[in-house]
Amino acid sequence: MDRNLVDQVLGTAARVLASGAISANGHGNVSLRVPGAEEMYFTSASSLNGLGPDGIARVALDGTLLEGTLPPIQGAVVAMHTAMYHDRSDVGCVVHTHSPYATAFAVANRPIACWIEALAMFGLADGVPIAAYGPRGSEQALANIRAAVRPGVPAVLLANHGVLVFHRTPDLAVLVGGVVEEAAQAAINAQALGGPVEIPGDLRAAALQRAMAFDSAGTKTA
Ligand SMILES: [Zn+2]
Repeated sequence: MDRNLVDQVLGTAARVLASGAISANGHGNVSLRVPGAEEMYFTSASSLNGLGPDGIARVALDGTLLEGTLPPIQGAVVAMHTAMYHDRSDVGCVVHTHSPYATAFAVANRPIACWIEALAMFGLADGVPIAAYGPRGSEQALANIRAAVRPGVPAVLLANHGVLVFHRTPDLAVLVGGVVEEAAQAAINAQALGGPVEIPGDLRAAALQRAMAFDSAGTKTA
């Protein structure tokens, strides 16, 4: 296995843990696309806690295990990752967690609306959609994910299960996972104050424009 890619997967898993957008048991999986190949590196351990190099497998995008080990329970979620790489050539990293607040929405079978500006800035101006429940690893589960995700949207809630994030780079995938969890937590807290309020549609587009304008201006130092 390529040591550099293994280190990238381990580093990404560590950043997911540090972001706090994960359940206490650390359940989840991270994968990275292998550049120029129909393959991914995938965390085959059942938890990201205590993950080491032996917890990473090299898997072909058709699901074939190429290197490492893949327990049956993890094998069932491989297809969720490979489907994202197959469908979206721009996707370089997929992260799946049961981050607690976002998973509360998934369990309630409710999408997350655009309640915080960061969602609009990161491709979720229409909120985080929810894919209907299907048994883990089933054709039905995959079809439901594909039906829920529109082009350009980098995250989806998995009904009665958790969250799936997919983006160009590991940094962006970890960041979006954190933003989704933050929005879900804020919305649940806001329930005590009359409920969360969506940002008006035209202002969501403006939030993205402002973010892009700041981005193109580059970092300022004094
Ligand atoms: Zn899961």
